[in-house]
Amino acid sequence: MSFDFTGKTAVVTGASRGIGEAIARQLDAGGARVALVARSADRLSSIAADLIHDPLVIAVDLSEHDAVDRISSTVLGAFGGLDVLVNNAAVERNQPASKVTGEAIDETLFVNLRQAFMLCSAFAKPLFASEGSIVNVTSTAATGAGGTQGAYAASKGGLNTLTKNLANEWASKGVRVNAVAPGLVDTEMWGPTFEMLGEDAVRKNFVKSVPLGRWGTADEIADVVCFLASDKAAYVTGQIIRVDGGMTNL
Ligand code: NAP
Repeated sequence: MSFDFTGKTAVVTGASRGIGEAIARQLDAGGARVALVARSADRLSSIAADLIHDPLVIAVDLSEHDAVDRISSTVLGAFGGLDVLVNNAAVERNQPASKVTGEAIDETLFVNLRQAFMLCSAFAKPLFASEGSIVNVTSTAATGAGGTQGAYAASKGGLNTLTKNLANEWASKGVRVNAVAPGLVDTEMWGPTFEMLGEDAVRKNFVKSVPLGRWGTADEIADVVCFLASDKAAYVTGQIIRVDGGMTNL
């Protein structure tokens, strides 16, 4: 699916693979100039080589304090403004609550929530100027996942709340803020779970909770992110759209 982003600029965090890569590719296909953010410089460069609208590669680690300043100064230096911010990067460290470490909680909340909020803040003025749009990628985990995901679920619940709060705070500036909450999506994020529980078993058993009966694809999430980021969603703000094959309907 392609929406019209002709002449627009966008930042996508976590663009080196999976859902973020799909979002970056779709924004570029719609005409946007996209800044690709993640740690893996080689992967970002190889994706950027496929894009047609003069992309920007920003290899940074969002767990570092100065990452937000580095991203905003690079983007504003190159683009001179911003229309679309997609906060998609996340870490998920499965740990039973009885064994969770403070370090894992800190990293998860810092990367998934704190830095997403700081990026919104850092780009506030340019987004006010363009009457732009923010899309946060959260998770169905925010509203009641299975166990061992406490820090991750809390970070995504926080991001849902932030989405609604910012939507209200910035509506008068013309900035829309929405979220997409994916369910089961076939990406590398599942690698550690496949390793722990066996890939075949996870693929077969987890899908039992999905009424549509299959895993989603990164492109199916990117379709909805790009809709929300586009002018076609001009009257949509403060919404959390679940894209989960009906999983949270059960
Ligand atoms: P993924 O394949 O693991 O990709 C995660 C992305 O985040 C990568 O590009 C990774 O890049 C980046 N990232 C992680 N830590 C980072 C850091 N410290 N600094 C900068 N970038 C970092 O996961 P995905 O499935 O595409 O997930 C994308 C989003 O969808 C996440 O917000 C996730 O919570 C959400 N989600 C996914 C699912 C699912 O089933 N897959 C379900 C619900 C929600 P580098 O490693 O190169 O830094």
